[in-house]
Amino acid sequence: MDTTLRFGAGRLPERSLVFTFDDGPGATDGPGRGPRTVELAQYLADEQIDATFFMCGKHVEQHREIPMQVLALGHRVGNHTWSHRHLPELDDDSIRDELNSTRQILGDCGVEGPIPFRPPWGEWDARIEAAVRADETILTGHSANYGWDLDGMDWQFWWDMGSPQECANSYVKTALEHGSGVVLMHDSTADPGTPGEQMRAGNLAVEAVKILVPRLRAEGFTFVPLSAID
Ligand SMILES: [Zn+2]
Repeated sequence: MDTTLRFGAGRLPERSLVFTFDDGPGATDGPGRGPRTVELAQYLADEQIDATFFMCGKHVEQHREIPMQVLALGHRVGNHTWSHRHLPELDDDSIRDELNSTRQILGDCGVEGPIPFRPPWGEWDARIEAAVRADETILTGHSANYGWDLDGMDWQFWWDMGSPQECANSYVKTALEHGSGVVLMHDSTADPGTPGEQMRAGNLAVEAVKILVPRLRAEGFTFVPLSAID
């Protein structure tokens, strides 16, 4: 594993975007708001877009079949820690547990390594990096460490029960401002407590992405896999 936090800036041609979705997986019965990881993965596959889903172990535990369904649709599955806590607030052993437990359950679900990693909130520093580098299991189970360049703050719209149009507008705006990069979106929310539950329940990522993809294509953007920045 290359433990240096990696970004798309400077590594991607103009008008190239990498789609990444964090904090899932999730599923919702019936119509309406809520996480729908497989539906999202299916739409992206239909559009020939290769995305990466950074999953949290605590959600994988609830939906053990989803990681392989996402992989079968041609996407990549990554580690986003077990419980989505702030890594700078954890001691070294707890940091290693957050990564190892998630890599373990994804392996139990059939996801073979090495897989990409993304720290919650993109929080990464020298102490965390040293803790990770001291663990051979983490190093062999992961490929590299990925941040993001473009954030349209989708969670804010889901928190406010906002519309998918507003969310898509926000991402078109940031894509035009940046020109290229790794895009952060959320197929669920893994934060504990009331705000997190509200964002998760309000999620309309599928609807937003179905608006966003044709609009970005009309602006001349193309979609490339995360491996484009390796
Ligand atoms: Zn996250």
